[in-house]
Amino acid sequence: MIELRTPAQIEQMRPAGRFVADVISALAEKADVGVNLLELDELAHAMIRERRAESCYIDYHPSFGASPFGKVLCTSVNDAVLHGLPHDYVLRDGDLVSVDFAASVDGWVADSALSVVVGTPRREDLDLIEVTGRALDAGIAQARPGHRLGDISAAIGEVARSAGLGVNLQFGGHGVGRTMHGEPHVPNDGRPGRGLKLRPGLVIAIEPWFLHTTDEIYTDADGWTLRSKDGSRGAHMEHTVAITEDGPLVLTDRSATRT
Ligand code: MG
Repeated sequence: MIELRTPAQIEQMRPAGRFVADVISALAEKADVGVNLLELDELAHAMIRERRAESCYIDYHPSFGASPFGKVLCTSVNDAVLHGLPHDYVLRDGDLVSVDFAASVDGWVADSALSVVVGTPRREDLDLIEVTGRALDAGIAQARPGHRLGDISAAIGEVARSAGLGVNLQFGGHGVGRTMHGEPHVPNDGRPGRGLKLRPGLVIAIEPWFLHTTDEIYTDADGWTLRSKDGSRGAHMEHTVAITEDGPLVLTDRSATRT
């Protein structure tokens, strides 16, 4: 079922969006050569406790998961691109790390992801992150009343294809509200003018993710982390966006983050 939020409810979602944005900013600042992925998870966990927020991940146990996730953050490094289970790994010079974080504040969820390179970046990794961010912006720009879901998907896919990247349609964006994953599914490619009509009050996570030279993935032996089939690196950028009469409202906007 697709649920629409009232303007008052969207206002109530702002603190969750702000908190998730703050955590993503703190993680981006903390991520560096020599930092363990478990330290990133601990930082996010400490911020959850301090804010009295609730993790969307720690007890997450979907049918495909071997056991509950057990961490509050996804950390996907290099050929890992989604759902990376934080483990005892120290970031090395040039690593591309994607952090994906969702939490509930006052009963409302926000969800956001960001990719960064630690240490000396490879040009191609910066380009991949730039394209992924541009695809996210293009998708957000279509998130307005009167448009259709396919307009968001097509805008994302167009950016990928014009950069010579493939698009995997297995995992994409989703409705966000009281829980992390709701309807509709928001694929990262599609046909303009098709699909659900976008109405004020629809709140969705838009989350393009691309790999350098493949669109195929496999699940790591940890049962969670999704890696590229050919070992090429991936990037992942996500915002939670409310569709309002005035257009897209990016609830997880980091430029509004308090410092
Ligand atoms: Mg997410």
